[in-house]
Amino acid sequence: MNYKSTRGGELQNSTFATLHGLANGGGLYIPEKLPEVKLTYDELKNLSYQELSEKIIKLFFTEFSDEEIKNAVNNAYNNTTFTDENIVPVHKLNEKVSFGELFHGRTLAFKDLALSLFPYLLLLSKEKQKENKKILILAATSGDTGKAALEGFKDIDRINIVVFYPKNGVSPMQEEQMRKQLGNNVEIVAINGNFDDAQSAIKVIFSSEEFKKYANDHNVMFSSANSINIGRLFPQIIYYVSTYVNLVKAGTIKPNEEFNVVVPTGNFGNILAGFIAKKLGIPIKKFISASNKNKVLADFFQTGIYNKNRDFYATNSPSMDILLSSNFERYLYYALNENSERVNELITNLLSGGELSVNEEELKNIQNEFYGEFSNDDETVNAIKSVYENYHYLMDPHTAVAYSVYEKLDNSNLDKNTHTIIMSTAHPFKFPTPIAKALGIDETKNPYTILDEISETTGVKFPEKLTEVRNSEIRFSNVIDKADIQDFVKKYIKDLK
Ligand SMILES: *Cc1c(COP(=O)(O)O)cnc(C)c1O
Repeated sequence: MNYKSTRGGELQNSTFATLHGLANGGGLYIPEKLPEVKLTYDELKNLSYQELSEKIIKLFFTEFSDEEIKNAVNNAYNNTTFTDENIVPVHKLNEKVSFGELFHGRTLAFKDLALSLFPYLLLLSKEKQKENKKILILAATSGDTGKAALEGFKDIDRINIVVFYPKNGVSPMQEEQMRKQLGNNVEIVAINGNFDDAQSAIKVIFSSEEFKKYANDHNVMFSSANSINIGRLFPQIIYYVSTYVNLVKAGTIKPNEEFNVVVPTGNFGNILAGFIAKKLGIPIKKFISASNKNKVLADFFQTGIYNKNRDFYATNSPSMDILLSSNFERYLYYALNENSERVNELITNLLSGGELSVNEEELKNIQNEFYGEFSNDDETVNAIKSVYENYHYLMDPHTAVAYSVYEKLDNSNLDKNTHTIIMSTAHPFKFPTPIAKALGIDETKNPYTILDEISETTGVKFPEKLTEVRNSEIRFSNVIDKADIQDFVKKYIKDLK
């Protein structure tokens, strides 16, 4: 399969696109043509998660052999990397709503689904591209990508990874997880700035010829672990397929029966993977993009205007504190009938003036399939509280944003007679403060003490992976200014052995 840029231009194969991440000129790689398949329940129902993965990955990474893909998925998804044998179990709340639990991986966030597989796809791509340089992965994180990428890449030969996170923009457990990361090829840097600052600085590095040359002179090339990379994005399709099969198996829906999905959204990678799953035949009726107070996407789906010139808020769902959502460009491409020229025009507006808008007809088409809404911090805490009180089910704040948004919508924007799956993107124990608030536990104590109390109150087991973090030493204490990211990277490259 060949890939092209959302903004037009030359074709590349999947291994080139995976290795390089971003297309020339700053566009994102998308398949030249989506695979023409119509997946059916009958062909999926007897497949394990690993077998489903093989089936999906083969469609998008045609340069790999069956054997290579099989090895990669078996290394990525097994009982050492995931604690649930279904990998992504479905929890039915009631007749209307289920949760797709995407948080049973090594770092307790949905990022593990993609980042357990991505390193294998990247290494295979490097080999096929006959690339001998060292790879330096640069990742900006709003909390969960960083840790999941670090776990995925730690101690892999000839690959190094540097993760940048906003100093005051992640939860205490997310920060602990990163600062205590093991591995001899990892570096973690807190920045005085927000996630968008980190993500833009990295984008500048990736598209700078001067930087490329500097790296090249040191026998290094850059790659990304953010969801702009196709090797990160497409593995996320698998859990939508698996979730559909599990919903049918549980008797919640019938084969071919449509369901809605509500996705807590930041960089738009998760929900976009669902959209592509639909294009492959999974019967998803409507996509709801759920935002926190940084509601740039919710506003877009309601008004057709995407305006990032607005205040940035640090919320209690930090992994969605994003105003410039990378994968949104890929969605636009499909929403605008695969018209690269129109994408180019709108993205140019966004990058120059901070705003883009679609016309009325385009918006109407978009709203047939997508809608957006937001919930603020208080509503999020209230959702955690009410679902816990009514169902004894503990949601993390991101999942709670999605649940709260579901509750807010009425039948004019979401058909509530259709079963709805809420994508549950993190384990609640990654976010002690809002959970403590919801349960009436003193939130000012040490986060581990809070978690002990939450565990005692709710009976939710303290996750083993967090016990490991609890018992490890802090290894990283870098804090730099956002303006110094590029110098930091240069020095890091110079010092690489
Ligand atoms: C990354 C993340 C999100 C946002 O996902 P996108 O693919 O960036 O839209 C939501 N919730 C959690 C817990 C996350 O880690």
